[in-house]
Amino acid sequence: MRNNKYLYLATVAFFALGIINIHFSILGTICMVLPFALAYRDKKKTWCTGYCPRASLFTTLGKFKKKSTRKIPKFILNGDLKKIILVYFSISLFFVTMSTIRVAAGKMMPILYPRFMIIIPIPIDFPQLLTIEGMAPWLTHLAYRMYSMMMTTTTFGLVLGALYRPRTWCTVCPVSTISDMIIVDGKKPSASLKKSA
Ligand code: SF4
Repeated sequence: MRNNKYLYLATVAFFALGIINIHFSILGTICMVLPFALAYRDKKKTWCTGYCPRASLFTTLGKFKKKSTRKIPKFILNGDLKKIILVYFSISLFFVTMSTIRVAAGKMMPILYPRFMIIIPIPIDFPQLLTIEGMAPWLTHLAYRMYSMMMTTTTFGLVLGALYRPRTWCTVCPVSTISDMIIVDGKKPSASLKKSA
């Protein structure tokens, strides 16, 4: 990562702010949308190479651990885990979207706690030190779901980073996988033909 070495503070701030008031977690959508928008615009992984706060966290923490001699397992390197994580990510996004729509439509109660991997409840009461009045239940539900998704993927990344190289997560990260698809698609001849037409 060639840019700001303090980017990891954004990841720390994200999790801290969620404890202060969960609605700050909606800011996590920036980390979901911006990488793809940049990949589409630049035809390269601008986010991954310069701006990702999570990768910055893994790199920073990696400086405090001994260099791992453990080999990264084949199922990580050969793309099997990448596919599994992509499926998990897609299911998560689908659940987040559909459940938020259902809460907004009054067909479901909001889930007001974080969950690990969509289904495992985390029995932690977030203190919510700051009150923000007038938030719609679907927004609060969405905020907890965003927090849950970020917490799950960051935990996986931290575990992989602790076991192997600090940025092992990047080999299976769904943001990277989808960015690759966007870039490949954008470079297809039909795309350039349309441009010149
Ligand atoms: S692969 Fe994922 S974690 Fe790694 S830099 Fe890209 S977005 Fe960040």
